[in-house]
Amino acid sequence: MEAGQRIAKATVPGALDVHAPAAGRVTGVVAVDTAWRSNVPAVRIEVDIGRFEQDVVRYGNAGVVRGAGDRHATELPSVDLDALVAAAEWAGLIDFQPSPTSLAECLRQTGGRRIAQLIVNTLAGDLACLPAGPPSRQDCNALVRAADWLGRILAVERVWIAVDRADRAMVRSLRVAARHSRIAIAALVNKYPQRAPVLLAHRLTGRATPPGAGTLDAGVLVLEAQSLMQLADVVQERQRQPDPATSAPLPSWLVCGVVTVAGPAMEKAVTYSVPFGTSFAHILSHAGLKHTPRRVIEGGPLTGRAVGHLDVVTTKRTSTLLVLDRASDRVPVPGPCIRCGWCQDDCPVGLDPRALLNLAERADVSRAAALYPQACLECGVCSYVCPAELPLAEGVMTLKRAVMNAGSGNAKKMMHHQHDSSLTGGSL
Ligand code: SF4
Ligand code: SF4
Repeated sequence: MEAGQRIAKATVPGALDVHAPAAGRVTGVVAVDTAWRSNVPAVRIEVDIGRFEQDVVRYGNAGVVRGAGDRHATELPSVDLDALVAAAEWAGLIDFQPSPTSLAECLRQTGGRRIAQLIVNTLAGDLACLPAGPPSRQDCNALVRAADWLGRILAVERVWIAVDRADRAMVRSLRVAARHSRIAIAALVNKYPQRAPVLLAHRLTGRATPPGAGTLDAGVLVLEAQSLMQLADVVQERQRQPDPATSAPLPSWLVCGVVTVAGPAMEKAVTYSVPFGTSFAHILSHAGLKHTPRRVIEGGPLTGRAVGHLDVVTTKRTSTLLVLDRASDRVPVPGPCIRCGWCQDDCPVGLDPRALLNLAERADVSRAAALYPQACLECGVCSYVCPAELPLAEGVMTLKRAVMNAGSGNAKKMMHHQHDSSLTGGSL
């Protein structure tokens, strides 16, 4: 088996293809834990160290994504939507918002719909949650060209690039790059969770996304800048090398992800390129610990998941490990609601998290539907601001899934199915 070879195909909505993270011999199927699910079937590979080291050089230096200087220096090929989908599928591209999604599936869903506006997002997320960070300033010309190219293929009326207004140099570079194009550069205050697609679409286009739906239902496609650049790279590469199966360089994102390890237990924050399936214990053994880890959280401080042990492995959604020591690890102690109203005031989509938590505790799915928990962005702000430290976000999310599953008869079962771990669980 070669590194990057597809070993499992996604067959249900929301699933992602699995690619071999390293060359070697398949020795069986085992059950592993991820931060979000237990007992996930996984292919065990006996790694061929010699080939692995060669591949590290290959995908470290010659992945499809090249240096900023020569990106899309020539005109991007004029292709149709089917060619875009095929390229995204071949390369296993993922768009990371609002959660990791197959880019091919996302593009496929634009077919047959009237997509009026395209938004390319460069806003950074909650504690380095982007897979490889926003593009450098030198990439601005390439980004504008790629956004214009995709806008023309999708025949949208308007193309936006959302950028953090605090990054003045990048705003300036993008405006200069876009001055002769139809692209609008939107310099926004990046107040969390502004980068959520639903909020970006509403802020820039005025279009509201129906609760529980995606922005495509509002006629707006929101893509990460990183995903767009990768898509343009892959399409261009396939144009140069018509037989990519044999000649194209190995796309690095099929085999490894960029993981930032930070937190009070660390000597300093470090960022690694890590093959998927690597255990957290292995990463921490290299990362330079200052104190014994007391709790490890995958994801940002507002929406992450604590893990119960360090044999948990990385997946395509792993971008951050937050490592807490004994002094910084504080378990919330929920108290009675003091009716301050902060949770409702700060919810970016205007939900009433307190009322929804009450209904979640009573497993009252039928009454909850009237309060639209499906609109929840899962941003975690309500729990963060609550002075009574109530698990509001967790309650709303559980109710959201139950309401969305109500038609399938799974609602009651879901209300009793709690997540494996949360920010309040999983101390080591
Ligand atoms: S997590 Fe809380 S604050 Fe965020 S959208 Fe959901 S209910 Fe609102
Ligand atoms: S923020 Fe907490 S204490 Fe305040 S109203 Fe909401 S649930 Fe009650």
